[in-house]
Amino acid sequence: APGSDAVSPAAPRLIVLSGPSGVGKSTVVRKLRQRQPEVWLSVSVTTRPPRPGETEGVEYYFTSDAEFDRMVAEGELLEWASFAGNRYGTPRRPVEEWLRSGHPVLLEIDLQGARQVRDSMPESFHVFLTPPSWEELVHRLSGRGTEDAEVVRRRLDTARVEIAAEKEFDATLVNTSVCDVCAELLALIQAQQV
Ligand code: 5GP
Repeated sequence: APGSDAVSPAAPRLIVLSGPSGVGKSTVVRKLRQRQPEVWLSVSVTTRPPRPGETEGVEYYFTSDAEFDRMVAEGELLEWASFAGNRYGTPRRPVEEWLRSGHPVLLEIDLQGARQVRDSMPESFHVFLTPPSWEELVHRLSGRGTEDAEVVRRRLDTARVEIAAEKEFDATLVNTSVCDVCAELLALIQAQQV
């Protein structure tokens, strides 16, 4: 009805990209944004400390536990999850505003977060990025060199669980080459915009 807040059928969809840590989600997303700046990538808040080279407001908003608690309590997060000892969440407001202004929005989040978005926004489209092989994932995660052995081990344990959930997703992309995956993801996003 005119004047109602109902999302119009022409509204762009929310796209969720998930997949195990180390599979290359961030690289694919960075490439996609260079090729298609129309797609808005949500910047998450996290209690994880910045890695070398990460910039506040670019990769993440780095925040304290207390501030994260406050955001959860005030309902400011669309979804959030604990991952490998830290918390990560998607600020709700910007996502809603970008969708309303007609832009496709991309969330790069873990499996627990993807499930919450599936429940709260059933019209969202969920893409799973999977490694070409388990050995390749182990290689990529260990080779990152930014995390100690214990952290890598925890991330691999979680990756096992995440890979088992692939069937919950609307589409799966195998990360054989960043260029190929980026093109495939772009095609999927464009096909979802009604
Ligand atoms: P990393 O510490 O490697 O940057 O991220 C660890 C994991 O947290 C990745 O799987 C990443 O996709 C996920 N992640 C990043 N931001 C969010 C978020 O806002 N919500 C959820 N649920 N997961 C996130």
